[in-house]
Amino acid sequence: PSLRREGFSSIPDVTWDDVGGLNLIKEVFVDDIVERIKHPEDYEEMRIRMKAGILLFGPPGCGKTLIAQAVANEAGANFILIKGPELLSKYVGESESEVRKLFMRARVNAPCVIFFDEVHALTARGGNEGGAVVERVLAQLLIELDGVVSREGVYVIGATNRIELIDEALLRPGRFDKTIYVPLPSADERVAILTTHARNRTIDADVDLDALARSDKCKNLSGSDLASLMEEAAKLAIKERRQLGNKTSLSIKASHLELALSQIKPSVS
Ligand code: ATP
Repeated sequence: PSLRREGFSSIPDVTWDDVGGLNLIKEVFVDDIVERIKHPEDYEEMRIRMKAGILLFGPPGCGKTLIAQAVANEAGANFILIKGPELLSKYVGESESEVRKLFMRARVNAPCVIFFDEVHALTARGGNEGGAVVERVLAQLLIELDGVVSREGVYVIGATNRIELIDEALLRPGRFDKTIYVPLPSADERVAILTTHARNRTIDADVDLDALARSDKCKNLSGSDLASLMEEAAKLAIKERRQLGNKTSLSIKASHLELALSQIKPSVS
């Protein structure tokens, strides 16, 4: 359905500053996409072939979508987000034409990044009716990916947390030929992520975000969990202030973060 909102593509407002950690991955995208869009002549002169697609995989909520948006922003490129299952229409022929239209729209809006979330939905094969649709969509997607390299200006980033389901045909050279693992954040990355989410919020001076992020309690939290932690603490700050008659200024205290942390469970086990 979202595909029918014709022309929906724009430059995202997510920047590198919104992405905590993931420095090596940022570097890959700078080399393969951002600089290529900004200085195509260098890549032509040095005969560097374009990658058709880059596939990000790893647990949910660790920044796959975020980094893809930041790539488009940094490159000044349009961004189209499409979830694999949205391409599967019940009507014969419609799914393939949706795929064709998607790439056409991207070419019209070039430079453009297409972000395919849940790519595995297009590749879980089955013998049933749904399986036949998947096969046709996959075939059309392969045709489009094969064409991307010869049509500069369209960049494809895929994402999945079920890499084991991905059809091998999608991973052949000239298609998603680079796969990158986006893991749960390390201790250093947790500090970077919490700091990112603290950026536009008032936090008490005695709050030690560094120690908090490195503590055992944050050990298995994803980027998305850490974002919720900060948001819940912010809500607790509002609530406490209201209960005290709205007389104090609004800021997040260590106690709010502690309470929020005690209520959060890692979403990835
Ligand atoms: P999914 O597999 O569920 O699509 P994802 O890996 O694409 O997950 P995102 O959508 O990028 O995850 O992250 C969800 C939210 O979690 C982001 O909007 C952001 O608030 C927060 N987040 C995740 N990773 C990071 C990060 N590295 N830095 C800052 N915030 C992050």
